[in-house]
Amino acid sequence: MAFSTQFLSDIEKKLFLEKERLEAELAKIGKPSGKDDTDFQTTWEDYGDKEDENAAEVAAYSDSLGLEATFESELREVVEALARLDEGTWGTCKSCGMDIGEQRLAVRPQAVLCIACQEKAGK
Ligand SMILES: [Zn+2]
Repeated sequence: MAFSTQFLSDIEKKLFLEKERLEAELAKIGKPSGKDDTDFQTTWEDYGDKEDENAAEVAAYSDSLGLEATFESELREVVEALARLDEGTWGTCKSCGMDIGEQRLAVRPQAVLCIACQEKAGK
């Protein structure tokens, strides 16, 4: 698939910005686990030892865990998209091998499936 150099460099910029945003969000709720770039560990916030403080800690931690999972999976998609850009396989549907389409990619550069396959996958 032939994308213009301009389009590809815009996409790359977009992906890098998204990566930075997600890393910043993740840094707020945890720290890198050290396993790889996209793996973070949620930090347990210590509010105090009173019962209500402990309850708040648990609530905050479980909120953070949910956020962490969301941000991590988004970050993984972005990192994968950047790797595919490097390889030159970006923009091709992982499932059927067809072009994903410039319009869809402009909106969602980390898309790995074309619209037809995405719908089949039921997402
Ligand atoms: Zn497809």
